[in-house]
Amino acid sequence: MLSLTLEPTNNCNRRCLHCFVNKADAPGFLPLGLAESILSQAKDLGFQQVHLTGGEVALYSHLAELIRLIVGYGLPFTVVTNGFRFPEVLLRPGGGPGVPAASAPGG
Ligand code: SF4
Repeated sequence: MLSLTLEPTNNCNRRCLHCFVNKADAPGFLPLGLAESILSQAKDLGFQQVHLTGGEVALYSHLAELIRLIVGYGLPFTVVTNGFRFPEVLLRPGGGPGVPAASAPGG
């Protein structure tokens, strides 16, 4: 099964010693338009699922829109999160993406 892994941001709200993300790098965020282009191409190429990772995905300000795009392409997806913003972002009543998330403690 072809899987697309997207890193919407390298930014994170933790500083785990084992982390492979280079904390010296400036925080970066995937432009939503670029994400849409990548998803469109991935769908055309036969990709069948999407994995969102980072950085901390819940710090990406366009997360809800990104998930709507993924759902719109009919692609199942997973989210790797440290969970520290889970209640306020991922489970936000009425405004959150309503993610059936897979959580990985410590990233
Ligand atoms: S939570 Fe994950 S991304 Fe953030 S510092 Fe820890 S391992 Fe790295």
